[in-house]
Amino acid sequence: MHAIVYHGPGEKAWEEVTDPVIEQATDAVVQVDATTICGTDLHILKGDVPEVSEGRILGHEAVGTVVRIGAGVRTVRVGDRVLVSCITSCATCRYCREQRYGQCLGGGGWILGHMIDGTQAELVRVPYADTSTYRVPDGISDEKILMLADIMPTSYEVGVLNGHVRPGSTVVVVGVGPIGLAAIMTARLYSPGHIIAVDRAEPRLRAARAAGADTLVDADRDDVGKIVRGLTGGLGADVAIEAVGLPETFEEAVTLVRPGGVVANIGVHGRPATLHLEDIWTKDITITTGLVDAYSTPTLLALVEGGRLDPSTLVTHRFTMDEFDLAYDAFAHPAATGAIKVVVTRPR
Ligand SMILES: [Zn+2]
Ligand SMILES: [Zn+2]
Repeated sequence: MHAIVYHGPGEKAWEEVTDPVIEQATDAVVQVDATTICGTDLHILKGDVPEVSEGRILGHEAVGTVVRIGAGVRTVRVGDRVLVSCITSCATCRYCREQRYGQCLGGGGWILGHMIDGTQAELVRVPYADTSTYRVPDGISDEKILMLADIMPTSYEVGVLNGHVRPGSTVVVVGVGPIGLAAIMTARLYSPGHIIAVDRAEPRLRAARAAGADTLVDADRDDVGKIVRGLTGGLGADVAIEAVGLPETFEEAVTLVRPGGVVANIGVHGRPATLHLEDIWTKDITITTGLVDAYSTPTLLALVEGGRLDPSTLVTHRFTMDEFDLAYDAFAHPAATGAIKVVVTRPR
């Protein structure tokens, strides 16, 4: 088969590799019908994730068709259309028993395209197939389901649920790339009073409006603190969702919440940020962090199946697998291409 193989910082190629096989009785091999590229893949290519070894197949998101199962797989069948989650779960360790699958101690967690070969390939081996894949409802397109592999549960769990968004809340989303946009889409499920989107890029702010933000803030031109206070009687936002991963944006998010509010960090940080306790120690502010656990995937599937949520609106570019390099180029240069999410499908 062919796959995107990582060859050290800055280097990857769509090349021929050996097909994956069943290694454990609980494995399945899935033919990848649709996959995507994540900001995390770009971090790996920059060399920011040193545990990814050379020769690793990248990718941790897919919708596909099961082609082989191990002898111990009980619920997944050959021929099933499945969502392959970015989080693998052994289902029996201490963390999996409390639905913290991202912290799995039994060989799961974020392993695809990280510790083991991933989904940017024609075939992928999925460990613990029974508890790490989800049946795709009949009649729902691959594209509607694919975003449930990572960005929708990440934004919903680590942003909206950790942030305790409630009906009437004022929510400010700092950074409206794919993750910030997904946070807006899932925050809307709770009927917040206001969703304020903050970014520097005009196309992203337009996308934020389409996703459900009512107030757009150009971080270069507007005074975001003044706008947030103006909408909240001078208090500040109930919830600030940080979806960039820079010290500046984290520190700004902390200044935007009211006393008693929540700062929900989703951003992937590569450098230390300063927590100004000298300003906030009396303000009852809660700061949450997290890696996605994907415990919300069944809920999100039900919302998509019921027509309440359509994550395919985030897809701006489509490629076939033989055009993988073009897909990476488009996704890595959003200012030039306007890319939000790219979908790469198996040629038919
Ligand atoms: Zn990802
Ligand atoms: Zn586990």
